[in-house]
Amino acid sequence: MRNQDQTAQVVAQYRGKYRVRNDKNEFWAEITGKMMFTAESKTDYPVVGDRVTISELESNHAVIQGILPRKTILQRKAAGKDDVQPIAANIDVAFIVQAADRDFNLNRFERYLTIINAGKIEPVIILNKIDLISKMELDENITQIKDRFRKIEVVATSVADRSGIEKLREVIKKGKLYCFVGSSGVGKSSIINELLGKELIKTKSISTSTKKGRHATTHRELFVLENGAMVVDNPGIREVGIVNVGEAIINVFGDISELTKECKFADCTHVHESGCAVLAALKSGELSEAKYLNYIKLKKEADYFAMSSLEKRQKNRSFGRMVKNFEKFKKKGS
Ligand code: GDP
Ligand code: ZN
Repeated sequence: MRNQDQTAQVVAQYRGKYRVRNDKNEFWAEITGKMMFTAESKTDYPVVGDRVTISELESNHAVIQGILPRKTILQRKAAGKDDVQPIAANIDVAFIVQAADRDFNLNRFERYLTIINAGKIEPVIILNKIDLISKMELDENITQIKDRFRKIEVVATSVADRSGIEKLREVIKKGKLYCFVGSSGVGKSSIINELLGKELIKTKSISTSTKKGRHATTHRELFVLENGAMVVDNPGIREVGIVNVGEAIINVFGDISELTKECKFADCTHVHESGCAVLAALKSGELSEAKYLNYIKLKKEADYFAMSSLEKRQKNRSFGRMVKNFEKFKKKGS
């Protein structure tokens, strides 16, 4: 007798098809027609990491009946649209990776932190390629990171000389799901391969021999490390946009959020108002200018995203009118 109602986890995602797995078996799966027709947005479709209910069919096929509530969801703004696109579900920890030599940038860390925080995922910072900088530069970079992000764990690694890899392994726990985010070329795949150890060769040869086919069809895949922890391959949030992150900004910029409570006006934008506690802290040097500027920038993006499409159209239209009036004004003047 086949078990009709089972739960499983989505471990790979292809165009319209999924691989799902539970302790008994691994299946090829598709969603029900009903799920497809009732889906209102991309978030109603399963993604890698999702726990789903399935009914088993013949020869290791299954139908996905529904998605169980998500613990966390990592999503990005779909390129050029207002829509959000889920990347992976139920990730416990996201490693935010930067290369110590060229990529190092605190503002970029802050941007990723905001997205990770909005997904309710725990962040850990990885500074990779430390073989390419001096010990002094490394200390300076670590100090800068710790100053700006007090509570976040930082691991310094080099895949080239393997330093920090053991420390990274200690951070990674059995049964948890991890992902690596960061710009292209910072070493995410190299770190994952290093962690996969023996699997590395297999993974690499598979991906080189069938590179094209694999990349054309697989969206995303979940790998199991030796200790039973899982890693999501390539979340690909290079062009990360700020979505639904109002609350996350409050968390990431905790000290600024505290200051805003002291502002004279409840709707203070902290840009030009009198009695603004944030501007006062900036002036006194208590708040760094770099952090302040990044806060204003990310907040603007988040506010813009939160606006309805109608509001956006109106804003764009009123801007258009302003430009037109200005053109008229210029003509009259000349
Ligand atoms: P990804 O795009 O983030 O996945 O980056 P890759 O893993 O593809 O790495 C990009 C390049 O950086 C490759 O040529 C790697 O060999 C190299 N690389 C990765 N980690 C290190 C490191 O720790 N030190 C040095 N020197 N090079 C590295
Ligand atoms: Zn203010």
